[in-house]
Amino acid sequence: MKMIDLLEVIQDEKRSEDFLRSRGVLKTFTHCYKCNSTKVGMTRSDRWKCYTCESEWTRRKDSILSLVRMKYSEFLLCMKLFELELTAEETATQLKLNYRTVQLLFNEFRIVLTAFDIKKIISDQTLLKDEELIYLVEEKEKIFLFHKNEMGSGAISLKITRHFIQEGTAYYKIEISNINKMQSLKISKQHLALHKFIRFAKKRLFDFRGTGKKNLLLRLSEIVYRFNNPGVDIFSCLGKQISQNY
Ligand SMILES: [Zn+2]
Repeated sequence: MKMIDLLEVIQDEKRSEDFLRSRGVLKTFTHCYKCNSTKVGMTRSDRWKCYTCESEWTRRKDSILSLVRMKYSEFLLCMKLFELELTAEETATQLKLNYRTVQLLFNEFRIVLTAFDIKKIISDQTLLKDEELIYLVEEKEKIFLFHKNEMGSGAISLKITRHFIQEGTAYYKIEISNINKMQSLKISKQHLALHKFIRFAKKRLFDFRGTGKKNLLLRLSEIVYRFNNPGVDIFSCLGKQISQNY
């Protein structure tokens, strides 16, 4: 969805809400979640109500919106600014939202968009070492990341070096390293996608300032997704993925 069309939707909260519900981001309840009665409806006070057992629940129940406190229009703008690759910090400033809230949302976006296996890193909440190797495989002009070397000596690794600016803030440099001697890294047809990816990723990691490993890996995973899916309408894909994952 283009910005100009979104601007129409976010004019008022009702339209924003209807839009989110039509995309399945907000859930439509046909049954009461307690007594299973079909006599349910929306009340004026931002809630659903069961007219059989009198239960009430918020319109955000079971949706990604239950994680954050912001208006429906603000949520839509967060999705749009994520698509346009504003950082969480810039987005928070532009929308006058809490930075942590936006960061949490952006990480959720990254997880659903890239089908990121969060279990891979959940056991490792520690900070990144100052140098970290991530393994790359290039296949049919697409790039796949691995956190362990599952390819043996044939793998190409990406060296990420962290430089601290101050506590909690760093910048990252990435380069290809540890190449198997048998493989030439000169730009050849074989490695064209790889070199393209490095350029693509360098530009994007330039803006990344966090120091948490989880955040960095999620951002990297998003960069890979964007690289592998050029021309994709991220806003629409994100909406689809959110509706399927929540
Ligand atoms: Zn009920």
